[in-house]
This record gives sequence, C-alpha cells and structure tokens, in this order.
Amino acid sequence: MLKNIVSIFLQESCPLCERATSEEICNYCQKQLKSCQFKKPHKFWQGDLPVFVWGTYDGKLKQAIAALKYDKHPKIGELLGVWLADTWLNYALIHPKLSPLMIPIPLHKTKEKIRGFNQSEVIARGFCQVTKYPLNTNGLIRVRQTKAMFGLTVKEKEENIKEAFQLGKSLQHTTLSRPVLLMDDIYTTGTTIKEATRILQNQGIKVLGVVAVCTPRHL
Ligand SMILES: [Zn+2]
Repeated sequence: MLKNIVSIFLQESCPLCERATSEEICNYCQKQLKSCQFKKPHKFWQGDLPVFVWGTYDGKLKQAIAALKYDKHPKIGELLGVWLADTWLNYALIHPKLSPLMIPIPLHKTKEKIRGFNQSEVIARGFCQVTKYPLNTNGLIRVRQTKAMFGLTVKEKEENIKEAFQLGKSLQHTTLSRPVLLMDDIYTTGTTIKEATRILQNQGIKVLGVVAVCTPRHL
C-alpha cells in the first residue's frame, strides 16, 4: 500500500499528453510515436549522400520534436536516438566492424545557449549509447547564424547555409582514420547536410551519410 502511494508521487507527467507515467514518455505516446516509423527507412541510403531516416515528421513525432526543442525535454531526444539506432543496426547498411565517428549538425552557440542544448547532439548521444560509435560533439561548429529554412527556395537555402560551418578544432590538425556519420533531427531538402559534408570532404574526410529522426518527405 505504502509502496503504491510512494510510486504515485514519484510518477511524473508525460511531456506529450500529461498522463502520469514513470517513464520519460508514457506507453500510449510511445505506441503512437512508433506508428510514425517508416517501413523503408533505408530507401534513400544510396547515391552521393545516403540518408537513413526513421519516421515521418507529422502527428505525434512532430509533437515530440517540438517538445524536445521548444519545451526543452532533451530526454525525448535521447529516446528517439535509441530507437533510431536500433532500427539502423537492424538494417546493417555498413560493415559491422566499421565504427564511424558520429558528428551532430551543430547549432550556432547563441542559439544553443538559449535552448540549453543542441537537439541533434542529444539524439546522437542516444544513438551512440546503442551503436557504441564514437561521438564528437564539436567536430563541426556553426560559425554563422542562419535564418530558419522554412519557406525559402532551394537557392535561398543554399545561400543561407553557405560557409555556415567550420571544422571543429579537434579535427583541424589530425588525419581522421575513420569515416563520419552525420546526425540531424529533421531532414528536409538536404541543403544543410550537403554543406556540412562539403566542409568535411574538403579536409579529406569521408562522409558515409546522414541519419535523421524524421523527414516531412514521403518515403
Ligand atoms: Zn503521453
């Protein structure tokens, strides 16, 4: 009896629906989130810049990303990163012995300070807990503040992101022996990823592709 009472007090509310739960996200919302998962997350794992994307940026997953970023629930990001990693490993798209360096797409430091964290970084943390890939959270830095990409044309997006990234100090004077895997929260037109990849490739670093939690595109 006492134990039950204590557990009621220990329960917090789910950030997505406010039901009481002892987990980060309640079981009901977890089920709804999992229904956003793509049947073919590897569909775009091909070509010059392969993309592996877990689910559709819509419904509950869109709500979860908003709660992560704007209501500041980094634990949601970690959980999504764990799910993304489980799915990634199931598809075995790269050699099992290959352990790429995970680099999250950075935020500008002013933006990161306001938010308190970089959402791609917390997703990458969850991802790397499962995959055991090494994580470099400042392999890339964002040196220029950019406008929100929403509503811009492709050309405007390219202009907006150009020269926005630089190689982080930790990668500047070393020869990287392993390839890189990039992490982004939402994959849209790929403009950001292309620019990040260009910076890495200019230094002779091989980029395997990008893993992302979601995309508004149809898979
Ligand atoms: Zn819930």
